[in-house]
Amino acid sequence: MSIIYQSTRDAKNRVSASQAILKGIAEDGGLYVPQTFPTLPVSLEALADMSYQEIAFLVLRAFLSDFSDDELRACVNSAYSTTKFDIDDIVSIQSFGNKHYLELFHGETIAFKDMALSILPYLMSTAAKKNGSHKDILILTATSGDTGKAAMAGFADVPHTKIIVFYPKGGVSHIQELQMLTQKGDNTHVIGITGNFDDAQSAVKAMFTDTDMIEKVNQAGYQFSSANSINIGRLMPQVAYYVYAYAQLVKNKVIRCGESINVSVPTGNFGNILAAYYAKQIGLPIDTFICASNKNNVLSDFFATGTYNKNRPFYVTNSPSMDILISSNLERLIYHAVEQDTQKTRDLMHALSQQGEYHVDLNDILSAFYGDFATEDNITAQIKRTFDNYKYLIDPHTAVSDFVYDMYAEKTGDNKHVVIASTASPYKFPKSVMSAFRHDNLDDDMALVDALETLSNIPQPQAVLDVKQATIRHHKVVSVEEMAQSVLDCLS
Ligand SMILES: *Cc1c(COP(=O)(O)O)cnc(C)c1O
Repeated sequence: MSIIYQSTRDAKNRVSASQAILKGIAEDGGLYVPQTFPTLPVSLEALADMSYQEIAFLVLRAFLSDFSDDELRACVNSAYSTTKFDIDDIVSIQSFGNKHYLELFHGETIAFKDMALSILPYLMSTAAKKNGSHKDILILTATSGDTGKAAMAGFADVPHTKIIVFYPKGGVSHIQELQMLTQKGDNTHVIGITGNFDDAQSAVKAMFTDTDMIEKVNQAGYQFSSANSINIGRLMPQVAYYVYAYAQLVKNKVIRCGESINVSVPTGNFGNILAAYYAKQIGLPIDTFICASNKNNVLSDFFATGTYNKNRPFYVTNSPSMDILISSNLERLIYHAVEQDTQKTRDLMHALSQQGEYHVDLNDILSAFYGDFATEDNITAQIKRTFDNYKYLIDPHTAVSDFVYDMYAEKTGDNKHVVIASTASPYKFPKSVMSAFRHDNLDDDMALVDALETLSNIPQPQAVLDVKQATIRHHKVVSVEEMAQSVLDCLS
C-alpha cells in the first residue's frame, strides 16, 4: 500500500513521504498527514523476537512508501548503532509492578529527541537524492532545550546541510544550554532569543511560509526544511519505540499478545504522544493516551473541555522542554478529530493564531486522551517518591508523566499495564533533580552532577563529560524581530 501525505489545511496539497520530509511543513502552513494509515506487515507475536532496528525498519517501511528497502535499511543501521547509543538495545524498559518506564534517552544528547534526530539527517539526504534536489538544505529549528542539541548532533558536518537553532535565552537548563553552545561543526549555528519557545516556533514557522524569505534563501542556494516534530521524518521514527515497547512486554510475558496497554507521555509540542496515537492506528493495542503537562496546562484544559485557549501566562518551569502553549502537532489530531475536514482544520488554526483560542466538540478520538498536569512541587515530590519506592531516579519531565499517571490510576481505578515515556536522563537537569533531595548547595551544576552520580549509582553519561571540557563556540542573542535577518546573516 502506498501512503500519500497531504496538508491538514488543504486536501489538494499532496506529496510523497520523501517530499514531505524535505519540505518539513506545507506551503499553506498546514502539517503533512498520511491520507490513510498502513497496517503493520507482521503479527504482534512475530514482533516479540525482533530487535529495535528490525522494528524501526518495518514501521518506517510502512509509512515511508517511496523509500526503497535498501535505503531504509541503510538509514536505520546508520542511526541506531552503538556509535550513537550507549546500549545495544537502543532503548531500555525499567519495570516496577504495572509501570514500565521506557527509557528513550540513551542517545548522544541524553533526551528522547535522539530517537528521531539520529535518523532524520539520513532520511533527509536520501529524500534529497530521490527528488533530484540540487540545493543545500537549511534546517531551521526552534527548541525548548532538547531538540536543538539533538538536531545539531545529527546534522553537524553532514554535507549540503546547514542548521540554525533558536532557543529561549534563560528558558533552558544550564546543561542544555552548555550542550548547545559548545556544539561543533562549521554548518551549525545556535542563537538565543529574548522570548519564549512559542515565540521561536511561531517565527520559524512564519519564515517557512514567507515567500520573500523563501526567495532570498533560494537565491543563496538553499531550501528550507525543519527538524521539529512538524516534520514527518521526526514523527514516524518515534512510532517505532511504542511498537518495540509493546513487543518487549509480550516477550517478557508481562502482557498477553493483543492485550491493551495505556501510555503516559510528558507532552509539550504533542509529537511524542501523537506518535503513540499513530502506533495505535497501525494496529498496536493502546487504550488510553495519558497526556501529561506541566504548569503550562493548556492541553489538560483542552482534553477536559474541547476548548484550546493559549491566552494565559507562560511559565518557565523545572521541566523546561515542556514549557509550550502552542502544541503544533495537536493540529494533526484535530484534523483526524474533525473527520479529515481540511477547511475546518484551517479555520480552527486561523482562530488560534488570531484569537488565541478555538473549540471542537469532544468525540471518541479526543476522549481516548486523558489530560492532567503536575506543578513544580508535584514534580520534585514525584522524583523523591519514585526514588524512595524503587531506588530509580527519573528526570523532571518523566516525573510529570509519572505523577499524572498516578493521579489517573487513582481517579479511574484503571490499572492496566502502562508505558511511561521516560524522555530525558536525570543528568540533564541536575539542579531540579537534586532539589528533590536537598535544599542547599544547589548552585554548582557540575558538583550536582557528582552528587547525582553518588545518589543514583548510574555513571555519568558521555554527554555530561563532554560538556565539562568543551569550549563555548556560539554567542549570539537576538530579539524575535531580528530572527529572520539573523538567518540571512548565517547564509552570507
Ligand atoms: C521535547 C521533550 C518533551 C515534549 O515532547 P513533545 O514531543 O514536544 O510533546 C518532553 N520531555 C523532554 C525531555 C523533551 O525533550
